[in-house]
Amino acid sequence: MKSGDTHIKYDHFHFPRLLELKCSSCNSKSIATNESVPLEIEHFIDIADFNRTWKYKCVTCIKKQDLNWEELKAFELWNKIEIRNETVWAWNSKHLELILMSLRKENTKSHQWQYFVNYLPKKWLQKIKKESDFKKIELLLS
Ligand SMILES: [Zn+2]
Repeated sequence: MKSGDTHIKYDHFHFPRLLELKCSSCNSKSIATNESVPLEIEHFIDIADFNRTWKYKCVTCIKKQDLNWEELKAFELWNKIEIRNETVWAWNSKHLELILMSLRKENTKSHQWQYFVNYLPKKWLQKIKKESDFKKIELLLS
């Protein structure tokens, strides 16, 4: 899978405030934050080219830069795992938490990422049903 694929499956104008990525220099976890968006907002709709700049910062090495949405696509997502030939991925751990809850058929109505339940690939829901699969996703969240 090309790394860029994972960023474009959702509504074209819907963006996460925070992305967890794999650092291109040291392979550690890195974070890209859109600082124009208030902290309490997890994801936002932008139809007017508002401010698509994320501040990239690696947790481990010194890599730090400002990146736009297109440039972010060059990075691998941190929350990504192969399960039953499906690539389960999320922009960040809260997003992944919602995915796990949905796969477990838990109630997600009050979850901050509830909006994205509608975008869950049907194949994930059909194929990922076993507790052992859920545990693999849980490991990513721990
Ligand atoms: Zn790094």
